[in-house]
Amino acid sequence: MALDQPTVALIVGIGLLLQALVIGAFLVFVRRYQGIRCFLIGTIGLGLGFLALALLPQTSLAAITSSYILILSGLFGLSSGILRFIGATSSAKIYAICWLIVAGMLSLCAWWFADPGLIINLAMLLGSAGMAYTALQVFFQRTIPYQSASRLLALALTLKIAIIFLGLAYFWYSQRWPSLTTLKLGYSVLILLLSLLWTGGFAVMITQRMQCDLSALASIDVLTGIANRRAINEYLEQAIAKWRRNQQGFAVIMLDIDCFKQINDRYGHHAGDSVLRHIALVLSEQVRINDLIGRWGGEEFLLIVDADTIQQATLMAERLRQAIQQQPTVWDDHVIQHTVSIGIALCGTHGFNEAQLLTAADLALYEAKETGKNRWIVYERRLLNQLDPALELANEGLIFDVDSSIYA
Ligand code: GH3
Ligand code: MG
Ligand code: MG
Repeated sequence: MALDQPTVALIVGIGLLLQALVIGAFLVFVRRYQGIRCFLIGTIGLGLGFLALALLPQTSLAAITSSYILILSGLFGLSSGILRFIGATSSAKIYAICWLIVAGMLSLCAWWFADPGLIINLAMLLGSAGMAYTALQVFFQRTIPYQSASRLLALALTLKIAIIFLGLAYFWYSQRWPSLTTLKLGYSVLILLLSLLWTGGFAVMITQRMQCDLSALASIDVLTGIANRRAINEYLEQAIAKWRRNQQGFAVIMLDIDCFKQINDRYGHHAGDSVLRHIALVLSEQVRINDLIGRWGGEEFLLIVDADTIQQATLMAERLRQAIQQQPTVWDDHVIQHTVSIGIALCGTHGFNEAQLLTAADLALYEAKETGKNRWIVYERRLLNQLDPALELANEGLIFDVDSSIYA
C-alpha cells in the first residue's frame, strides 16, 4: 500500500483534530486548570497546519511557508499549554513573542532563499527547540504531584526532538538528503505517532491532577478550610505509627467554643460561621508547621501537636486559649468575644491508640466545661473513673495521674 504525501498529511491533520476533540472535552469539565485551552489551540493549530500541507498547492512557496508557520504555532501552543499547566510559566506572552520571531524568520527565509527544503528543516529545528525547553521543564519540575504522567509527556517530546536531530545529523553526515516529499512524509508520520503519546500524557496528567484535587477536597472542611474529621483520623493514625517507631511524642488537644449557641442565637448563623472561620485562622497562626489542626465537629476543633511532655502540651494549650480570647471576631460591625475550653491527652501517657487518646482528650474537655469553661485540663484517671468506669483506657501503670492542672 502506497500513500502519497498529501494523503498522509490529511490523515495526520484529521488525527490531530480528533485529539483536539478529546482535549476539548476535558476543557469543558475542568476549566479552572491553566494551560488546557492553550494546549487545545496548539493541537488545532498543528492539525490545521497538516491540513494546509495536504490541501494547499505544494508548488507554491507561500503555501509551504504558511503551512509550516501553522505547524510551528501549533507546537508552540502545545508547549505553552504544558508549561502553564505545570505552573512553569504563568504567561503565554513570552511564547507569543517567540512564535512571532520564528514566523518572521521563516517568512524571511522563504522570501530570501526560496528553498522549501530549508524552510522545512528550519521549522523542524525551531519546533524541536521549543519542545526541548518544555521537556526539560517537565522533567525537572519537582513540585507537581502527577509525576508519572508528566514523564510520559516529557518522553514523547524528547523522542520527537531526538528523532528529528538524529535524522538531520544522519542526512548531514551522509550527504544524502531525502527528497522533499520523503522529508514531509517522515515528519507527518512522526508527529502523528508522537502526538498520540503527548496528548495521552497530557490527558493522564489532567486526570491525575483531578484525582489529587479530589482527595485533597475530601480531607478539607468546607467552611473553615482546615482538615476535616476524616483527615484528622488519618493523621492521628500516622502520628501513632510514628510514635511507635521512634517515640516521636505528640499531644491531642481538643477545643470546644464556649457558649457558641448563644453567639448563633444573638448574631445569627452567619456570624457563627464567621466565628468558626476566624477561630480556625487564629489556631492556624499558633501551631507549628508539623502540627495538624482540624475541625472535629460543629464547634469543636482538634489539634495534633508535637509534644514530648505534658508541660509542652499545656504551654501550647494556654497559648491557644489566650489567642482566641484576645482576638475576637469582627463581624458586621460587631465585635464578638469568644473563649474555648480545652482537653489535653499525651500519647504514651494517656493513651496508646486513637480511641484511647480521643476519649482521654474528650473527657478532659468535658471536665474543663464542667469546672467553669475558658480553661484547659489534662486528662487524668480520675476523670475516667468518674465518667465512664466501663472504659478501659491505657495501660494502668502508665496512666498519668496528675493533680488537677486546671488553669483558672
Ligand atoms: P458549651 O459551652 O457547653 O460548649 O455550649 P455551646 O453552646 O457551645 O454548645 P452546644 O452543644 O449547646 O451548641 C453548639 C451549637 O453549635 C449548636 C449548633 O447549632 C452550633 N453549630 C454547629 N455547627 C455549626 C456551624 O457549622 N455553624 C454555625 N453557625 N453553628 C453551628
Ligand atoms: Mg460542642
Ligand atoms: Mg461549645
